[in-house]
Amino acid sequence: MNQLLGAHTSISGGVSKSVELAEKLGFTAMQIFTKNNNRWFQKKLDDKEINAFKSKLDKSNIKFVVAHDSYLINLCATKKIILEKSRKAFLDELERCKLLGITLLNFHPGAHLGSGEEEGIKRIAESLNIAHEKTKDYNVSSMLETTAGQGTTIGYRFEQLREIIDRVEMKERMTVCIDTAHVFAAGYDIKDPKSFNEIIKEFDDIIGLEKLKCFHMNDSKKPLGSRVDRHEHIGKGFIGLEGFKNIMDDERLARIPKILETPKGKEQLEDLENLKVLKSLIKNY
Ligand code: ZN
Ligand code: MN
Ligand code: MN
Repeated sequence: MNQLLGAHTSISGGVSKSVELAEKLGFTAMQIFTKNNNRWFQKKLDDKEINAFKSKLDKSNIKFVVAHDSYLINLCATKKIILEKSRKAFLDELERCKLLGITLLNFHPGAHLGSGEEEGIKRIAESLNIAHEKTKDYNVSSMLETTAGQGTTIGYRFEQLREIIDRVEMKERMTVCIDTAHVFAAGYDIKDPKSFNEIIKEFDDIIGLEKLKCFHMNDSKKPLGSRVDRHEHIGKGFIGLEGFKNIMDDERLARIPKILETPKGKEQLEDLENLKVLKSLIKNY
């Protein structure tokens, strides 16, 4: 089976440019921001750009595209004005995905900022219910990303993601992405093969493997359980090649697209090196 592999790809020059770059680098999967990730809002995507994106994608070998939302959005912000801005911006992100034909919007659940995890989880679910209610006919799922648990961020335990999903009305709109650096920093030992196997079983028991639609493949600059989110090149961090071998060579996970978010320059040549390393770890599947 040919695994779908790629990286977060730049949209510099317009969203359709990302397809050209990803294709040039030989990706079969990619992630993009649909706008500047450090901005709340940006002008609407124009039809020309949308059509260019879609037609280039159609002709390419890229079979999987996920969008990542803006870093400013916090679906459980405590200040009313920020919460409302976040909800509006999230809606805008869903709309951009719909226009581009992207079916997955990856996002960080949120940071409770001292209000407590329980309160944060409730607020995130409420935000998602509002967004889904307003986008009933959209074929775009909200993809919860596992977090490192840095600061007051929520989503560093599978149980927390489960609780969010439980409170969301349109459960079919919910999917999950595992970020390897984040789960490792959160304390899940994916490096040890036996522990890795138990973690995947745990994920299946708590959330269900059918909800897992993507992996973010990043090594970690920080040790197990550090709760610090710092990405490193594959094999150069605390997860190491052993850890990535567990994922790349697991039959249960072979069908799940894998996206690098490792450090890179403008031309993204570092991605080629990291992908080569990942591919070298596939022995059986
Ligand atoms: Zn992310
Ligand atoms: Mn990630
Ligand atoms: Mn990260």
